[in-house]
Amino acid sequence: MRGPGKYDFINIHDHGADPHKGVFTIDNIMVHEDRYPGELEGIAFSCGAHPWHLEKDKMEAQLNKVREYASLETVIALGEAGFDRLRGPESQVQEKVFRAHVAISEEKRKPLFIHCVKAWDELLKCHKEMKPEMNWIIHGFKGKPELAAQLLDRGFYLSPWVEWAIRPESTSTLKSIPPDRLFLETDGFDIGIEPVYRVVAEHLRVDMQTLKRQLWENFCSLFRTDEG
Ligand SMILES: [Zn+2]
Repeated sequence: MRGPGKYDFINIHDHGADPHKGVFTIDNIMVHEDRYPGELEGIAFSCGAHPWHLEKDKMEAQLNKVREYASLETVIALGEAGFDRLRGPESQVQEKVFRAHVAISEEKRKPLFIHCVKAWDELLKCHKEMKPEMNWIIHGFKGKPELAAQLLDRGFYLSPWVEWAIRPESTSTLKSIPPDRLFLETDGFDIGIEPVYRVVAEHLRVDMQTLKRQLWENFCSLFRTDEG
C-alpha cells in the first residue's frame, strides 16, 4: 500500500491535491466528480459518494462506481461518506448509502472516512450495529470535548476541521483528543498542511518532529501497516 515516510507531513484529507515534496496526501474523490484516481507520487486516494451529492435514482450507479474505485491499489480508503442533516437527500437514503460504504470498507479491508453533520446518533448507531473491523475516521471534526469523548470511546480517529484546528479557542478540545487518535487535514482549503502542523504543535506544546512522528504512527495504526 502507498503510505508516507516517517519524516513526511501527512495531509489525511484533501480535495484536488497537488504533489508536494515531503507531504503525503490522501486526496478525496467524490464519485459524482469527473475525476479518476491517478498515479501521482505522494498522493493516495479515498473515494466515496458524499451525502451532499447523493441522488435517490442514481444511488446504485454511484455505489457501483465506489466499488469499482475501491478495488484500485491507489485508493487506500473509503469515503468521505456519512450523514448530513442540513444537506443532501432524506436520512433513509443517506443511511442506506452509508451502510453500503461500510460493507465495501470491510470487504476491501480499507478504512472509512466520515462526513457527519448533526447526525451523531445515527452514526454511532451504525457503528454499534455493524461492528466494523476497519477503522473509522471523522474528518472535519469541530465538536465539543464531550462529543469527542463519545467517538473516541468507540475507537474512532478524529481529524479536526482545518479552520477550527488552528483557532486558539479549540486548544482544550484538541488537547482532549489522545495524540494517538489525531490527524490533520486541509480539506481543499487554500492552506498547506505544514502551517497547520506548526500551529497545532504550538497549541499542544509539542515540537514539530514529535507531532510528525506521532501522526505517522497514527497512519500506521489507522491502516494497520508498518511499511511506512
Ligand atoms: Zn472533504
